[in-house]
Amino acid sequence: MASKPTIVWFRRDLRLEDNPAWNWAVKQGGPIIPLYIHAPQQEGVWQRGGASNWWLHHALKDLDAQLQEQGSHLIIRASKNPLQTLLKLIDTHEVENISWNRCYEPSQVKHDTKTKKALQDLGIETHSANGALLLDPHSIRNKSGKPFQVFTPFWKHCRALELSKPESLVGKSFASNVDSDSLDSLELLPTIPWDKTMSSFWEPTRKGALSLLKEAIHKSSHYETLRDIPSTDGTSRLSPYLHFGQISPQEFFHTVREHCPDREKADTGILRQLYWREFAAHLLYHFQHSQDLALKPEYDRFPWDFNEDYLRAWQRGQTGFPIVDAGMRQLWQTGWMHNRVRMIAGSLLVKHLLQPWQEGARWFWDTLVDADLGNNSMGWQWVAGSGADASPYFRIFNPIIQGKKFDPNGEYVKKWVPELSGLSKNQIHTPWEVTPIELASAGVTLGKDYPHPIVSHEDGRQAALDAYASYKQQASDK
Ligand SMILES: Cc1cc2nc3c(=O)[nH]c(=O)nc-3n(C[C@H](O)[C@H](O)[C@H](O)COP(=O)(O)OP(=O)(O)OC[C@H]3O[C@@H](n4cnc5c(N)ncnc54)[C@H](O)[C@@H]3O)c2cc1C
Repeated sequence: MASKPTIVWFRRDLRLEDNPAWNWAVKQGGPIIPLYIHAPQQEGVWQRGGASNWWLHHALKDLDAQLQEQGSHLIIRASKNPLQTLLKLIDTHEVENISWNRCYEPSQVKHDTKTKKALQDLGIETHSANGALLLDPHSIRNKSGKPFQVFTPFWKHCRALELSKPESLVGKSFASNVDSDSLDSLELLPTIPWDKTMSSFWEPTRKGALSLLKEAIHKSSHYETLRDIPSTDGTSRLSPYLHFGQISPQEFFHTVREHCPDREKADTGILRQLYWREFAAHLLYHFQHSQDLALKPEYDRFPWDFNEDYLRAWQRGQTGFPIVDAGMRQLWQTGWMHNRVRMIAGSLLVKHLLQPWQEGARWFWDTLVDADLGNNSMGWQWVAGSGADASPYFRIFNPIIQGKKFDPNGEYVKKWVPELSGLSKNQIHTPWEVTPIELASAGVTLGKDYPHPIVSHEDGRQAALDAYASYKQQASDK
């Protein structure tokens, strides 16, 4: 049993429940130093956007509160070099060992490998565990020993594997007199208060996660029917909590499975989605270039046609396609967008508007509270047709049909594009087809209150197909 301190290095596992790194430290029996190092400028690490920083602030505050309930508090250090920060703490407080949960993004894996070696060379015991995923990505291979690139066989393979059961331990002893920077000094909150709607939409705490988890159990029976209807609250909205590790995927999985009214529906519905998250992490872990380049490298030669005006109109929810604009405004105001609408809005950007998928991914990265390198890269490459198991480029979503199908009464559009709320359900997805008199009686002047479509669906579709044909031609000429 250790008598000297153990550092628990929190990263994207901002919880005490079912946290393997924490549990290991508690089992050592010595005093714990619960540490968070804020190192946004670390080489190769994608800097968080404003929405994610907002979430991180609240998640850290909440973790500190949870630690206070156990008689401790979170030690925060702002740093340019986490290894140096660790070494200093180890030296000052005679730390004997250090425990963390692994992050699986390529740059983080590189940093962690270096850190582990440097610490071990100094005789410090390091312990790393999987606290982020259902299964460790390096343990998953197909029958030929290669990483999976198609979701269904990946899912079948993973489903057959046993998952660890959540375990939660309470810390008993904590090191004292460890200096901490203040949370506010990290300056994670916006200086201009644009976060009001976010605050009313989210409770970014462990309590918030548990309350959504409870709802997810009840929703699991209707998940397949409601998951594609963005006006309903049919999905769990747990993605940011999973990203920041306020809830473990094991806790999500086992809690839903044990308490859901219909296990078969839960397994093939909401719990299957958790394996999409696993699949995204698996792809990023095994195909490291896919964080910013096409997973299928030939797609890097696709003839995109960058246009700043198009990009800006899309970002601001001013494309003239109501379902897309509703999604982009939901994203801006809440830091989250419904999955179906992420696909429709993404498709309009990369297909009708021919903008590189990386531009869309960057905007999502900056504005999502659940911005996650694996999920975001996979999502965008799915839309662009360049990823594993992706929708082929020539399959082009029609944003009007998608709007009518998944928002049949226009409720979602009315909520996020209120200037169109006077239109009927038959008019709302195609305001440009409504007569000026009817528009006037709904209080809308096209081009003034709401834009004309940035491109017609037919022209955009044709431009996308032409670009695809020229890309295919070039590829076959080589
Ligand atoms: C272009 C694009 C970009 C995306 N970027 C991100 C991102 O940065 N971060 C992110 O977490 N998700 C991303 N997704 C995936 C998906 O949209 C979100 O995970 C989902 O909308 C989260 O809502 P929820 O928690 O209610 O999901 P639920 O339907 O309740 O699903 C439960 C959990 O499963 C996981 N999950 C669900 N759907 C997917 C999916 N398609 N891919 C991967 N994991 C999934 C999430 O962790 C989610 O919290 C993206 C999808 C697209 C099409």
